[in-house]
Amino acid sequence: MKKVVIIGNGAIGLCSAYYLQKEGFDVHVVSACKEGAEDSCSYGNAGMIVPSHFTPLAAPGVIRQGLKWMLKSKSPFHIKPRFNKDLFQWLRLFYAHANQENVDRSKHLLKDLNLTSRDLFNSIQEEESIDFNFERKGLLMLYQTAKYQEEEEKMALQAKALGLDVSIKTKQQILGLEPHLTPDVLGGVLYKSDAHLNPTVFMKGMETILKAKGVHFHYNSAITGFSSHKNSIEGVYTSKGKIKSDEVVVCAGTWSAALVKQLNIILPMQSGKGYSMTINGVPKNLQHPSILCEAKVAMTPMGNHLRIAGTMEIAENNLCINKNRLNGIKEQVPKYFQNFESDWFKHITPWVGLRPVSPDGLPYIGRVAKWKNLSINTGHAMMGMSLAPVSGLLIAKSLATSSPSLDLSLLKPERF
Ligand SMILES: Cc1cc2nc3c(=O)[nH]c(=O)nc-3n(C[C@H](O)[C@H](O)[C@H](O)COP(=O)(O)OP(=O)(O)OC[C@H]3O[C@@H](n4cnc5c(N)ncnc54)[C@H](O)[C@@H]3O)c2cc1C
Repeated sequence: MKKVVIIGNGAIGLCSAYYLQKEGFDVHVVSACKEGAEDSCSYGNAGMIVPSHFTPLAAPGVIRQGLKWMLKSKSPFHIKPRFNKDLFQWLRLFYAHANQENVDRSKHLLKDLNLTSRDLFNSIQEEESIDFNFERKGLLMLYQTAKYQEEEEKMALQAKALGLDVSIKTKQQILGLEPHLTPDVLGGVLYKSDAHLNPTVFMKGMETILKAKGVHFHYNSAITGFSSHKNSIEGVYTSKGKIKSDEVVVCAGTWSAALVKQLNIILPMQSGKGYSMTINGVPKNLQHPSILCEAKVAMTPMGNHLRIAGTMEIAENNLCINKNRLNGIKEQVPKYFQNFESDWFKHITPWVGLRPVSPDGLPYIGRVAKWKNLSINTGHAMMGMSLAPVSGLLIAKSLATSSPSLDLSLLKPERF
């Protein structure tokens, strides 16, 4: 039986483990986290499963809008200015990809990956009998201004052209869809193709079923280096000793770039810091996950809880909280809902996570050319939860058959 070491137990690592064990590999998940810790990016995210997000982060207009936001301390986007070679390289590549050509090249793939992944969540829930509150109610894009109405309506037309089930809603229709919080909006767009889940319940459930299926977990075992011979990786060194392996899959989120640098692989990546706050037992809840378009805030009902998430700060790999940006989120939400009370934010401990962000808005998935038994599965930015099952499946198929079902050339880890 071939032994695979997966580095990282975030959503991408766990889903890779799930499909690799299905292919008959002896799977070992190695993580820097303690057992039971919920401190990776995969726990506090908004849990949105998003075929609607077919536009990559690097798209026309993003740089102009980003520069405007840079000047505001409470805005949803910020790049922390610093002298850093990796940041300069990432910015250069982001600038080169923020165009229509990149959108046209990526949109079919992103839509297909997200749709496949959504269906895989469904299969996991049914096959494994774990209930992670997966619901297919769609996603609402809510806008308050004519500018965003125009933008969202254009996007809805593009989505329809791609075959997605999408409809534009008037203010009255939105009030009908969301009777409890009473949205104060001009209208919205409902993406019926989208879904949502509770990330923490999904992560805990997956780890439990993986253990039951014989996957080995090595906690508290930060990878410190690799053991190699010629162009082959023989194993990994961890803070607890060496683990031999026939194959290595790097799923270490935003920390992946530093890890593979040790193997002379350049993986342009920046951390996209974001925050979330969960109001447990919220008095009035949303019926649909929603994105507040002008504010760039995501809100997801999770049973009788409501999770509110936002900001993208391209910053260093630390979990410091910028209070201004957190307050920016808190101030925006009551502006969109007449029945939302600011007091509900009282006594809530904010969560912070680091998204692994590639410069062209596409993840890195597949084998690397330099090493015959090394694969990478990371760089999913704002879609890591949504794309986790399909990314895991693609990695498993590429290790098992050397011929994945989808053309992965756009996702090659060494594409830059
Ligand atoms: C505010 C916010 C909201 C979001 N909302 C959504 C959403 O609605 N939908 C969506 O699809 N995505 C969303 N995302 C993005 C999503 O959360 C991430 O893309 C995803 O969680 C990344 O998963 P990952 O497994 O790649 O990384 P992580 O979850 O960060 O896991 C990385 C793992 O690698 C381990 N590791 C790191 N270094 C080492 C080392 N040296 N040795 C061993 N282990 C190591 C870590 O311990 C960790 O377990 C959101 C993110 C944020 C911040």
